[in-house]
Amino acid sequence: MVTLTFLGTGTSMGVPMIGCGCSVCSSSDPRDRRTRSSVLISSGGRNILVDTSTDLYHQALSCNVRRVDAVLFTHSHADHIHGIDELRRFNHIQREEITCYGKAETLGAIKNIFKYIFFQDVKAHDIPQLMTEAVNSTINLFGIDITPVNIFHGKRLIYGYKFANCAYLTDCSGIPEESMDALYGLDTLIIDGLRYAPHKNHLSYDQALGVISELKPKRAYLTHLTHDYLYEEMQGKLPENVFLPYDGLKLELGL
Ligand SMILES: [Zn+2]
Ligand SMILES: [Zn+2]
Ligand SMILES: [Zn+2]
Repeated sequence: MVTLTFLGTGTSMGVPMIGCGCSVCSSSDPRDRRTRSSVLISSGGRNILVDTSTDLYHQALSCNVRRVDAVLFTHSHADHIHGIDELRRFNHIQREEITCYGKAETLGAIKNIFKYIFFQDVKAHDIPQLMTEAVNSTINLFGIDITPVNIFHGKRLIYGYKFANCAYLTDCSGIPEESMDALYGLDTLIIDGLRYAPHKNHLSYDQALGVISELKPKRAYLTHLTHDYLYEEMQGKLPENVFLPYDGLKLELGL
């Protein structure tokens, strides 16, 4: 059985947001706490991490993540990469390097930002030991077929990832025509649904629902969420096949 764990479901500033006293940011419901967006795909004791969010340390502890066998990067924005140093702990546990996959451009940007990791002269115990591998078509990791899918994030094209019958499309403002076929009629679609008001780099709530009704997945989850959504209040509002996830939620992907 392949499972997907939502390690984080929050937008770049997280929820609660620093200095905000709104009803969501001050909610006592743990489902209203949203760390920076990331998911973990697990199968047969192996874990594939999608992005190394700013909150990776806390996510790994709260979700009891004990291995990271590979990392898939969606893009190089700070909220998706700033936890990269936490991979060091998994190097120590596993006693091996970890391969990071992504678009060549994304990996190039990450190498440039984290020069201390990728341009080390000698292998050092106190620096993550990572390899990079650019992908532009389906790869198979630990028995799972993983396909990168181009999606719009504002003007740039970044990667969403498809795991057989499930797709994870964080930081999505639109889907290019040529990516639509691969995303049609999935069992599970996880898609950016930032907030109610439009945003140039993200789908709004209404736009996300529009894409979901076009792609017709069996079930859909919104992610990369701001403090617009009070978990409990949303339960009666969402369409039948659309759900709000919360940090720590696990889905069985039935692959
Ligand atoms: Zn983001
Ligand atoms: Zn707030
Ligand atoms: Zn982004």
